[in-house]
Amino acid sequence: MIDSNISEIGSFVLTKFDIVVVGAGPAGSSAAEYAAKAGMRVAILEKEESVSQTVRTSGVTWIDSIEEFGIPSECYNPVRNYVFCSPNSEVTISSRDPRAAVLDVRKTYRWLAEKAQKAGAELHANTAVSDATRTRDGISLKAASAGSDTTFDAKIVIDASGFSSIVARSLGLVSQWKRFGAGAEYEAEAENVEADTWYLMVGQKYSPAGYAWIFPVGQTTVRIGVGVGKPESAADPTEILRQLIDRKQGPIAKLGKIAVKEFHYGLIPNEGLSRKTVYDGLILVGDSAGQANPLVLEGIRYAIRFGRIAGKTAAEAISKNDTSEKALISYEQMWKKAILSKISSASRVQSRWLGLSDSEWDRELEIIGELDIDEFLDFIKAEFGLASMARLAMHHPKLAVRQLFSIVRDAAKRN
Ligand SMILES: Cc1cc2nc3c(=O)[nH]c(=O)nc-3n(C[C@H](O)[C@H](O)[C@H](O)COP(=O)(O)OP(=O)(O)OC[C@H]3O[C@@H](n4cnc5c(N)ncnc54)[C@H](O)[C@@H]3O)c2cc1C
Repeated sequence: MIDSNISEIGSFVLTKFDIVVVGAGPAGSSAAEYAAKAGMRVAILEKEESVSQTVRTSGVTWIDSIEEFGIPSECYNPVRNYVFCSPNSEVTISSRDPRAAVLDVRKTYRWLAEKAQKAGAELHANTAVSDATRTRDGISLKAASAGSDTTFDAKIVIDASGFSSIVARSLGLVSQWKRFGAGAEYEAEAENVEADTWYLMVGQKYSPAGYAWIFPVGQTTVRIGVGVGKPESAADPTEILRQLIDRKQGPIAKLGKIAVKEFHYGLIPNEGLSRKTVYDGLILVGDSAGQANPLVLEGIRYAIRFGRIAGKTAAEAISKNDTSEKALISYEQMWKKAILSKISSASRVQSRWLGLSDSEWDRELEIIGELDIDEFLDFIKAEFGLASMARLAMHHPKLAVRQLFSIVRDAAKRN
């Protein structure tokens, strides 16, 4: 029996859904789960053969977000020591209990996709969207799926395709990101892993416009990586990474013998919250919307949180028979209210960091070393509350820290 929503015309297959989500990353799976839970007929289209076949992220996130999303304990490694290294200095800030974590990215992304499927969403893997056109009732997507061309029709499309923003670009609504971070990383077995400690390395020898990292994935495995800001630097992060490992720079030396298991490479937008993210019948979410903290290029928790809101908003709009931009705008208002001023403040701190020389980095580390654990985590997570930043800018016992917080406060006040 042919499903009434599917018809075959020659080698073309036509499929009709309420909502089609493009991309089975954290944003797409979360959006699909919440749309399906609201009773919608939902498809997720993923170009790779399986979810997270290619890893493009380092997977650091925070324990409070893990608890908020209910991510199972087998999906992450907890961290409680946060080490910063500059060319001539090192500071360690520790929490009694773990406050950060490094995700097993494949396990976590697959767990999110399974939740969407359990809620009723159909996952179409190996289905690469190449084109989008507007129709009378919504948007039509052309995709290459297992050797045949398929057209997916949706009342609302959620573009969760990450950096490529394939749907919005194909409709001519956005152009390619011009400011972004490029990161290269090895996942490797190492002789001496400190499983509860991550390292961030800053200064010219680690990255000309960015930072390098060691993130522990477990007792014997680490991710060693380098991020470079574009267009600030033309440097190739893969080349720098190779050199850092060959020369065993800084804390990489402590790892002892390293056996590389996997190479990861990815791009992350860094243009602040510049994009409009709702149009008639279309929502952008996650990296496609530019929802990332530019300070440490961190976006997984925003992708999940705002993916859920995108899915719910789309379902409500369809239930009310109004899929116009106006009906979807509450999504954009909600996520901008949650992070707009925080991201602006983080961008200001990032601009300061991009201009630091090695000796200035040494001094910046002294300032970071003066932060208590809660101040440090708020700072690195860009969880800047205007009231607390204003208080710290006026009353922190250390003058240098007051200056740092006043940058944050002034940027937040403008939004
Ligand atoms: C080097 C690097 C390190 C990072 N480290 C961290 C970190 O430590 N912590 C953190 O929180 N964030 C980190 N990020 C950012 C984080 O990875 C992203 O913010 C997050 O993955 C965004 O999720 P998403 O679902 O929007 O997009 P993605 O995770 O990119 O998912 C998009 C999905 O869409 C699919 N897709 C793309 N095009 C098509 C198409 N045409 N048709 C069908 N499917 C398509 C892709 O295959 C992919 O599965 C890092 C990013 C980089 C580049």
